[in-house]
Amino acid sequence: MVWPLALWLAVPGNLPLWQRIAGMEGSLAHRVWLLASFALLMTGAIAALLSLLAWPRLFRPAASGLLLVAAFNTHFMWQYGAVIDPTMFANVVQTDAREVRDLLSLSLLATVLLVAAPPLWWLWQRPLRARGSWQQAARNTAGVLAGLGLALLMALLSYQDLASLMRNQKALRYMANPLNTVYAATRLAADQWPRQAHALQPVGEDARLGASYAQQPRPPLLVLVVGETARADHFMLDGYARPTTPALARWQAQGELVNFSQVHSCGTNTQVSVPCLFSPLTRQQGGDQTPEHENLLDVLQRAGLAVLWLDNQSGCKGVCDRVPHASTLALQVPGLCEDGECFDAVMLQGLDQRIAALDPQRRARGVVVVMHQMGSHGPAYFKRTPASHKPFQPECRSNTLSDCPAEQLINAYDNTLAYTDHFLDQTLQWLQTQAQSGSHDTGLIYLSDHGESLGENGLYLHGVPYSFAPEQQTHVPMVAWLSPGLRERSGLSLDCLRARGADPISHDHFFHSVLGLMDVNTQAYRPALDALAPCAAPRVQAADLKPPSAG
Ligand SMILES: [Zn+2]
Repeated sequence: MVWPLALWLAVPGNLPLWQRIAGMEGSLAHRVWLLASFALLMTGAIAALLSLLAWPRLFRPAASGLLLVAAFNTHFMWQYGAVIDPTMFANVVQTDAREVRDLLSLSLLATVLLVAAPPLWWLWQRPLRARGSWQQAARNTAGVLAGLGLALLMALLSYQDLASLMRNQKALRYMANPLNTVYAATRLAADQWPRQAHALQPVGEDARLGASYAQQPRPPLLVLVVGETARADHFMLDGYARPTTPALARWQAQGELVNFSQVHSCGTNTQVSVPCLFSPLTRQQGGDQTPEHENLLDVLQRAGLAVLWLDNQSGCKGVCDRVPHASTLALQVPGLCEDGECFDAVMLQGLDQRIAALDPQRRARGVVVVMHQMGSHGPAYFKRTPASHKPFQPECRSNTLSDCPAEQLINAYDNTLAYTDHFLDQTLQWLQTQAQSGSHDTGLIYLSDHGESLGENGLYLHGVPYSFAPEQQTHVPMVAWLSPGLRERSGLSLDCLRARGADPISHDHFFHSVLGLMDVNTQAYRPALDALAPCAAPRVQAADLKPPSAG
């Protein structure tokens, strides 16, 4: 049964891949040769894999799993132009019921029926022949060798063509079902294995609050809004022609809000970007890998501040594990929550009480609240906005993106940005009230975790491997708002910040910019990566302060 299944998995299991190769430039003969050699290579590799699994109790479940994987992958490649690399796979593994529900559709069912149902039926109705285990081992070994032999032969015969194809079309290697998923799962497991045993490496063990905390009139309160799937080129503040951010534009006109127009993300999906954003490491240093270090929140907490993570999404990806955190999942606030999920404004509900419940000593020094938005999470964009906040009509109300005309899809997406604008407006109003009442010196930084494709080059959603990700998935919006009190204590000049709003910065700068803004002194802080530092007046250095414990 190995070879017929291998042939099925390689050929009907890879329709998007064949479609892509067939549609490429070059002569017909060349494309046919590429298709045939690639298909035979894959048949051999899959046959080797199946031979490895060809044990009586294992074969049917394992082969069924591979068939279903190929069918699901086919659907997501067709629908969204997705490819399956290790970070995409990690994303899938960490998904939650809400996200899965948003992806279920009739076309998914149809693809599964088309790609997986016929071989599944064939696989389960055929009797398995009983063999002795030595005999089975010998057959399996022969199968592995024959499969690898075929794959090797085809690789040698078409080496030049396949190698140049892979070089020029890096995405293709992540389109090869189901090998892409087997590879990604193996990589993920190998990555996790040794790290389970290791504790995270501490960061900023020397972290202390700077001079601005000595006899401070008011503690600082900083809100960090981690946006979801917002792309900069649909942000009105960044030049988009539609009014997606009217409220932020008003705050900007009043002068205290600064827009940063050239910000790039660390990854193209939440799983990579959120940990990377809080990581002390830059992307180049490995901030985009599974974290081995503590993060910004650990350092802020170690310095003595109160930290709180509020999550309106599928979790903080490990970032908030060691600080107080709360999820909105179980909330049922009328008007803000429906169908088991809540609009982002729910994070402002009862926020004063949540902050009041934090450690009072820490709170007296200062507070950092992170709000992790649902933002513009697709593909069901229409679910992210309440009926009262849908200025762009008509909007796509399907998660099968190809069901909708492009304009309707963009309307639904732009509505999510308009709702984010509303949510940030409410948050800013709350912060301004706090500042005006004299209870805190307040500030807000908003930036998105990554962007989104809305059909450009046939791509939808996000998660394209970073090295060939389109600009739409990595260019993200970012704004900062600082109350007069926070500007005074941090010595930041608004004019200077505004003048530098178009400087190219990235997620790499977040860790250091927040430490700088919050005046936390530590060896882990690197001024060169503090995007705000060029606009700050020189501060009293840590060395000028007496350590609190020294007699
Ligand atoms: Zn995300």
